[in-house]
Amino acid sequence: MKIGKIAKYRIISQAIFFVVANLGFIIGMTGIVYPFFYCYASPGACASCPLGIIEHSVSGGMLMAGMFLYVIFFIALVGLVFGRAACGWACPIGALQDAINAVAGKLQTRLNNRAAAVLPSRLPGKMKYVKYGLLAYVVLGSAVLALPTFTDLCPVGVLTGTFPQLALNPGSFAFGQYFAVGMIIFSLFVALIVLVGRGWCRWFCPIGAMFAGTNKISILKLRLRGDKCVNCNACSKSCPMAINVPEDAERNPECILCGRCVDACKFDALRM
Ligand code: SF4
Ligand code: SF4
Repeated sequence: MKIGKIAKYRIISQAIFFVVANLGFIIGMTGIVYPFFYCYASPGACASCPLGIIEHSVSGGMLMAGMFLYVIFFIALVGLVFGRAACGWACPIGALQDAINAVAGKLQTRLNNRAAAVLPSRLPGKMKYVKYGLLAYVVLGSAVLALPTFTDLCPVGVLTGTFPQLALNPGSFAFGQYFAVGMIIFSLFVALIVLVGRGWCRWFCPIGAMFAGTNKISILKLRLRGDKCVNCNACSKSCPMAINVPEDAERNPECILCGRCVDACKFDALRM
């Protein structure tokens, strides 16, 4: 498979962010927040998961309001500059899905085509709203129940926190009461990211939902030069977020600004 020019930079960026996310092995925990999904229970964690801070702050009453505002301000600031690009360029879970897609992309395409033949055509498009519902559940559910509602069930937490902890400290890990349910959710998560390229980002990631709206106003954006476009649709076929690029990519909340469409366009009709 030929790797595009932007894709090369993106792979380097994802690798750097993965290393930075695990600097905790050297510098310990800092007070900052990851602009992506990574568990603060990971042995190498040096920052906090924004979703984890949100659920703990809203469930902890007014005393924690500062933490909530800190995360919102941080996400807004990153989003204002980069939009949802953190999903495409920094998130280790996004990188993992890209790696699986690079190996199993043909299988994913075949399965998705078969699924498209039997499922309602609008279903994948409607599924994108699930992540907004999940975000609302985490914020409102944690506030109403006065307890974190996501951490114990988080599949990313299992992958980047629980498993590495179990591997490094097999004797010291305490299994929580939701461990079994968490493992079922984790199994579904694994099936999703193996079978659907960027399926987690498209449909379920609450942090992607937090960033999505910032695409409307961010400094970094995708631009279509209509005078150069010949409607060959190579861009849409390459898009991991299933966006109809010539019609609908500019300022689309689902766009992770990965640049795959820019690499795919042979007519120089797309720019970031
Ligand atoms: S690949 Fe380029 S020319 Fe083809 S439809 Fe997309 S933007 Fe237009
Ligand atoms: S529209 Fe282009 S930049 Fe946006 S997600 Fe799709 S391929 Fe990536």
